[in-house]
Amino acid sequence: MEKQGNIRISSENMMPIIKKWLYSEKDIFIREIVANAQDAITKHKKLADLGETPHEEHYRVNVILDEAAKTLTVEDNGIGMTEEEVEKYITQIAFSGAADFVDKYEKAGGDGIIGHFGLGFYSAYMVSSDIEIYTKSYREDALAIRWESDGNSTYTIGDCDKTERGTKIVMHIADEEKEFLKEGTIRQLLRKYCSFMPYEIYLNPKGKEDEKPVNTTVPLYLKQPKDCTEQEYKDFYRDTFADFNEPLFWIHLNMEYPFRLKGILYFPKVRKQVELERGKVKLYCNQVFIADNIKEVIPEFLMLLNGVIDCPDIPLNVSRSFLQNDRQVQKIAKHITKKVADKLIELYKNDKAKYETCWQDIATFVKFGCIKDDDFYKKVEDIVIYKNLSGEFVPVTSLYGEELSEEDEKSGKEAQAIYYVSDPDKQAQYIKMFRDAGMDAVFCDTYIDPHFLSYLEYKNPRRVRFLRIDADVAGALKEDSEEDGELKKIFEEALEGEGVTVKTEKLKDSNVPAVINVSEFARRMSEMHSFYGMGESPADLTLVVNTANEAVRSLKDAEKQACTQSAQYLYYLALMSYRPLKPNELEKFIATGNLLIQNYLKK
Ligand code: ADP
Repeated sequence: MEKQGNIRISSENMMPIIKKWLYSEKDIFIREIVANAQDAITKHKKLADLGETPHEEHYRVNVILDEAAKTLTVEDNGIGMTEEEVEKYITQIAFSGAADFVDKYEKAGGDGIIGHFGLGFYSAYMVSSDIEIYTKSYREDALAIRWESDGNSTYTIGDCDKTERGTKIVMHIADEEKEFLKEGTIRQLLRKYCSFMPYEIYLNPKGKEDEKPVNTTVPLYLKQPKDCTEQEYKDFYRDTFADFNEPLFWIHLNMEYPFRLKGILYFPKVRKQVELERGKVKLYCNQVFIADNIKEVIPEFLMLLNGVIDCPDIPLNVSRSFLQNDRQVQKIAKHITKKVADKLIELYKNDKAKYETCWQDIATFVKFGCIKDDDFYKKVEDIVIYKNLSGEFVPVTSLYGEELSEEDEKSGKEAQAIYYVSDPDKQAQYIKMFRDAGMDAVFCDTYIDPHFLSYLEYKNPRRVRFLRIDADVAGALKEDSEEDGELKKIFEEALEGEGVTVKTEKLKDSNVPAVINVSEFARRMSEMHSFYGMGESPADLTLVVNTANEAVRSLKDAEKQACTQSAQYLYYLALMSYRPLKPNELEKFIATGNLLIQNYLKK
């Protein structure tokens, strides 16, 4: 017997609205329908466990494509539905559920619901022109039921001759959605959304013994960490992220209280240094894929990692802005951050050699994390390491000075200086001078370092300041402050119009006649200007003339012309070890060199 009815909630205008909103994420219908099938199996299994109904040997979900009939069918051997249940859960709830959803979505102000979760059965109408349900309840006396609706306001319900327990959803794919009839498309979607669902899913099964399901019913992250092998972690990584580089290391999250959280976060090898490579942190809820990189749940800097997080306690059918302010969600994010920091500290303490080899790959991540998250910074500041001039790694905090007191500051005392090298090639001459003088510096050559160093200064204003190795040669390498007015004047006259300040100093190394200093502050300003596209401001150069150098000293006795030319020549030499000469400077350098040789040979 067949009945017809009207769907009670006015849904006539809902479809176009839902379709419009969800247009970019139509795919999710497959998750909703397959997840319903899985739920139905879970329910049956629970009843069987309670002894209410016989056990089923092989629970499974079949996904069947029929291109000729233009149908996509999802079939389960779960609990099934009686006629009353179909009326209650599908006709009424499904449609009123959709009405609720639309309502919530509107309240969310359009900022969306994570992964469009909770749309349920109704979402299948995004791709179907008509849907049939064939279902038979586990109850012994239950009749098999057929329900059909085109998703507008009417439906048909009646008996049918389905003999096996369970539910079969037949989606008649709309003409304009033909891609959902392709096996490739469906396989890819099942892989994306259903990879870790708890019961086997078969795509177009042929009934063969050795057929493989498309999903892994017990994904590695659900197991106890002590039961997982290194190889399993690596295999899981490769299969889940299609990355054939081995991960550096990983963190297995396994928590039951105060919230449930399971997952594995992997630190990938960084392929390029120049760019922050985006990772992928996949969020699951009870083994159902929700979405990638949900910044409301997973701290932004952790998105440089690859991982899966399964957290059933996150409310997913609420707006993103609600999630962001949810206390529980904030706790979850904090917990994940803490675990990551703990793992890094443990590695540093227990296997420093490995930590140091991985450092190049994780440094950007750690530094970025410090800048973004103060709690993370506080935990890991002591394990941020830098390579010094002897090639050893040192924790940056070990280089800090004593905290200055207010009096110290008032009397003009400055925080401890740490010298750093940003470009070993360009700064080779300075490195040599530092080495010769027994001074140290650290290599800061990742692109995030300029920001990170400023951040450390901002966090520790009285303990540290960073100076690039060419910023304060006079300060770092002087033996004595020695102002030599005569030499200063010689250079100032010779370099008139060059826009350089002259300073005289007695340096520890007498071999170097003169060296360029660039004020750290002015250089940073100039870098900032060019970073924001405001054009480069001229660098603030100082020529430090070394009064300990023989050649420099001889200038005093030289005749006027030779003295000027030599002073200029020494200036260009110093400039050259700071940066490449500009064309006009190179011209002058060659001309002066020529004259000097001529004069020398004439003698
Ligand atoms: P939700 O899954 O969020 O409850 P849905 O609209 O997806 O909302 O489904 C409504 C209800 O219909 C489900 O709660 C369930 O009771 C029933 N249902 C849907 N699919 C199946 C199925 N394959 N087997 C048994 N019951 C189902």
